[in-house]
Amino acid sequence: MNKKIRLRFAPSPTGPLHIGGLRTALFNYLIVKKMKGRLVLRIEDTDQNRLVKGSQSHIEDSLEWAGIKCDESPKEGGDYGPYKQSERKEIYSKYIEILIKKGAAYYAFDTKEELDSHRKNHELKGKTFIYNFHNRHKLNNSLNLDKEELKKKLDQKSYVIRFKTKENCTVKCRDLIRGEVSVSTKEIDDKILFKSDGMPTYHLANVVDDHLMEISHVIRGEEWLPSLALHVLLYEALDFKKPHFAHLPLILKPSGKGKLSKRDGVTFGFPIYPLSWKENNTIYRGFNEEGYLPEAVNNYIAFLGWNNTDEKEVYTIKELINDFSINDVNISGAKFDPEKLIWLNFQHIQVMDEQDLSKIISKEMETEAEDALKMSRIIKPRLKKVTGIKQAFSYLMEKPIIDQKSLSKITNEETKNILVIISNFFIANKKVTNSDLKSKMFSELSNNKIKPAKAMPIIRVALVGKLEGPNLFDLINYLGKDETIERLSLLQEIIR
Ligand code: GLU
Repeated sequence: MNKKIRLRFAPSPTGPLHIGGLRTALFNYLIVKKMKGRLVLRIEDTDQNRLVKGSQSHIEDSLEWAGIKCDESPKEGGDYGPYKQSERKEIYSKYIEILIKKGAAYYAFDTKEELDSHRKNHELKGKTFIYNFHNRHKLNNSLNLDKEELKKKLDQKSYVIRFKTKENCTVKCRDLIRGEVSVSTKEIDDKILFKSDGMPTYHLANVVDDHLMEISHVIRGEEWLPSLALHVLLYEALDFKKPHFAHLPLILKPSGKGKLSKRDGVTFGFPIYPLSWKENNTIYRGFNEEGYLPEAVNNYIAFLGWNNTDEKEVYTIKELINDFSINDVNISGAKFDPEKLIWLNFQHIQVMDEQDLSKIISKEMETEAEDALKMSRIIKPRLKKVTGIKQAFSYLMEKPIIDQKSLSKITNEETKNILVIISNFFIANKKVTNSDLKSKMFSELSNNKIKPAKAMPIIRVALVGKLEGPNLFDLINYLGKDETIERLSLLQEIIR
């Protein structure tokens, strides 16, 4: 029987989870669910200098908001833990020793100043300094020291351990999206794998953990593609079986020029984090706080790089699980289109469970669930985001403030007369059923030689305060005839 696939989402807690990270997590989740595998959340926190407070919980809370449930994680635990790299230090020490013993890694003592000066000298000659087989025999490392000297240097505890990249060969690897990727080792430097603070760097920890956690597929962002060759060499040096790899395309600015950045969100006024994030006294509102449904966000980000074969655009998570395939992901970058996201949000609101929507409405409008359910009929068809409802639909709760521009548009010598006729109609027809109301009202207007197109905007301004809003008969039905009469007479007073 085939072994179950195991995927992982491996963020570094160096800041909030952004839309790119969320998409990586989602793609991993969709594949795991379809193939009935397991999803691991691994926190890659080996670079202690880059840790940002609150980042891990922002990542965990955001995944929860999006409904991306990990089967194994720091919170959930699991058979392959710990799931936080800072708690796995001893494991990495064991593997770095194996590499040193094999001669696949070496100690390096070059100071920052020494390295800077090598870089400068190369630049002056129009070259790029790469620390690898071209020059490692001339640099300050264990390859060029005898045993005694090495021991002395190691006692000072100021060193790094570098990977001894193979000489002059081509590393080949298959990427599920890009096909074969090949890199010459001439271009790969002897990357630092371990630091004297006892911590591995990302590369070693990532490869060791993917192996020990039995990860079958590594699906991550394109920014990690340049590390792929090194990782392949590490798998080989450690005699580990390689997982399958896929590198997801970049997410681009709405203009298509360059990578989407945190600043673009601020500049163009759209969120890029699932949940809000505070940094240097600035609050970046998330999709959640801006009124987007997680279903819509998932639907939208699934299409950032993925293309389905038909025209279908609105997907539930179940449908995404069914239809998504890593083989249909493109190589080219995907433009972030905030308008499309709003459109999808609207679509998901329309198919939302009535009870769930009325819960949101009841919270926003500060009203009972029963009233919210009634309001929902009016609000839903006009709702693009589930925030700002109270402000946009305040006329459902209280008499509207009449917008002056709308008022001037409906005011002429007939307005007053029309208002009187309509008011009288409602007073005389308090008992008429809602289903008969429209035809009765229209025949009354016609008896008075008033065109509905003239009367309706006037009623709209009286009830809503402006020339927009829901279907008028739905609104009258919701407000009731007494409230309708009161609002009509208030407008009469203003126009007088
Ligand atoms: N820790 C890396 C990051 O934060 C993950 C890279 C990977 O998935 O291998 O992006």
